[in-house]
Amino acid sequence: MDWWAKNQRYMINVDRLQVYPGSPDYIEAVRDGLIEDRIKWIDRQDVHLNISKVNDFDAEILGIQVDVTQKTILNETTPVRFAAEALHSVRGRTFNIVWDCPRCQHVNDYRGVRLSPTLDQYAIRLTCRECLSRFDVRTVMATTAASRFTYRGLMATRGSLLLAAKRILKLYGALRFGRRNLWKAVAATKVLARAYALLGNPLDSGRHVAYADELGRTGAFGLAILHYKQALRLDPTNQRARQGLNAAEGDQLSDQNRAKYFVSFSDASPPRHLIREHPVITEQWGVGQDFPDIHAIESDRRTETG
Ligand SMILES: [Zn+2]
Repeated sequence: MDWWAKNQRYMINVDRLQVYPGSPDYIEAVRDGLIEDRIKWIDRQDVHLNISKVNDFDAEILGIQVDVTQKTILNETTPVRFAAEALHSVRGRTFNIVWDCPRCQHVNDYRGVRLSPTLDQYAIRLTCRECLSRFDVRTVMATTAASRFTYRGLMATRGSLLLAAKRILKLYGALRFGRRNLWKAVAATKVLARAYALLGNPLDSGRHVAYADELGRTGAFGLAILHYKQALRLDPTNQRARQGLNAAEGDQLSDQNRAKYFVSFSDASPPRHLIREHPVITEQWGVGQDFPDIHAIESDRRTETG
C-alpha cells in the first residue's frame, strides 16, 4: 500500500486480493483447507475468500477501505464535452466524452462510453490515447438521462451502506470483537461511517477530511495523509485539510507511523491454515487425490528445464 501511495502518478487500480479457480492462490487455499467443498465454493463465486493471516473481520474492513481508496482517491479532470448519445438498442444509454489530457494536452474524444451506476457516478477513469496516462474524468449530470442514472447510482450506494450496517450489527451480536475490546468496535464503526459518507460524494473535500481525521485517531496515518491531500486537490483553501496534513507530516510522527495504512479492530484468530498444522493434507483430509499437486508439478518442471 505504501508503494502504491508513493506511486500514485501511475494511477494503478487498487483492489483486494481475489481468488480464482485454478490459480496458485486457489490451489493453496484448497490445500490449506480454506476451501472444503470446491463445487459449493464455485457456486458461491467467493473470490474474496480470506486466505491471509488477517482475521475475517479485519479483512472485511480492510477490503472496504481498499474499495473506498480506489473510488475516492482520484486524479480528476473536467471534460470539455459530456453528452448523452442516441439510445442504443443493445448497449442502452451511452455518452460522448471529450477531455483534454492535463499531462500532454491531447484532445481525447471517447464515444459510446457506458457508465456503471455504482463505479462512475462522480468520475470515470479513462486513459489518454496519446500519453496513456489515466485520469478520472468528472461525469456531468446535465442531461435528464444522466440525472436518472445518477439517482440509480445513489440508491445502490445507500443499499450497500445498509448492508454494511447490518453486518456490523451482526458482528456486535456475535461479540466477534471480544468483550474487552468494545472501544475497537466503536472505532471501526466510526471509520466505516466516515468511509461510506465519503463514498456518497468523493468530490466533497469535507468528507475526505472527516474520514482522514478518523483514520488518524486509529493510527492509520498513511491513509489519512492520502485523504488530506485529496481534500486539498479538490479545495486548496480547505484549512482543516491543511492542518491535518501538517500534523500528519510533522515531526511528532515517524516515517514508520506514516507507513501505516490499516489497523486491526479485532483480536479474533486468523483463518486456520491446515497445511501449517499438517505437512501433508491431500489424503489425510480428503481434499481429493485428483487435485493437482502444485509442488510436484513445479519440481518436475525444474528437472525438465534443469
Ligand atoms: Zn496525455
